[in-house]
Amino acid sequence: SPMRDRRAQSLPWKQRIRLKSAAELDKMAASGRALAEVFRAVPALVRAGATTREVDAAIERMIRDAGCMPSFKGYNGFPAASCISINEEVVHGIPSDRQLRDGDIVGVDVGLIKDGYHSDSAETFPVGEIDEEAERLLQVTRECLERAIAQVKAGNRISDIGVAVETHARAQGFSVVETLVGHGIGREMHEDPQVPNYRSYSTPDPVMEPGLVIAIEPMINAGVKRVVTAEDQWTVRTADGRLSAHFEHTVAVTADGPWVLTRR
Ligand code: MG
Ligand code: MG
Repeated sequence: SPMRDRRAQSLPWKQRIRLKSAAELDKMAASGRALAEVFRAVPALVRAGATTREVDAAIERMIRDAGCMPSFKGYNGFPAASCISINEEVVHGIPSDRQLRDGDIVGVDVGLIKDGYHSDSAETFPVGEIDEEAERLLQVTRECLERAIAQVKAGNRISDIGVAVETHARAQGFSVVETLVGHGIGREMHEDPQVPNYRSYSTPDPVMEPGLVIAIEPMINAGVKRVVTAEDQWTVRTADGRLSAHFEHTVAVTADGPWVLTRR
């Protein structure tokens, strides 16, 4: 999603993390289910010949038809309901008249608000037949997200997530984007804490506790980790032009472990 700048820090983190009550978690789960329902329709939209604007329009229609609001639209001036990022684009691609082509990989990132609560999810889809490296990148990035989710339990630290993602990505010969991170989520799309996808020695490193809800979103590059922002001031691309993939779920910490609110 159109992410906040990591440097914005003022109050001590403990005061800024907003743990959710059971009633709030139920509302967040309903928000997550609505978003998962939207994502169930996306694979059929992401096909050769479709423009990313058409994909976005269908997504926005589904969100509104479900009685929800597209949270990205207008966020810091972002013009669409979804970010659609193709091949070497990492995140924050702006839907346009560009047509998808056989062999593309297409990251679709969507957020919505239902009954005052946000959910945020992303998935990278293949268009037709993709090459072996692209296939492996999608698989490994998906595995990075699942390994991160497996770290979501009371008593673990936020840094356990980044360690899990980075360890797996590197073992597969890929790199982890560091300039953009996951985030707490709730009444706001971006809440504390920040959730890095890499081994971070920075403090604070919050301990997870029941009621914490976070969006976990590994961005994994086939080549170097460095990224650049395009002239449109939104689209983030890999610096070396090689492929990037992005998967994201909104996940609650419960006494019984992770509750993936956006699972489709
Ligand atoms: Mg997102
Ligand atoms: Mg996000």
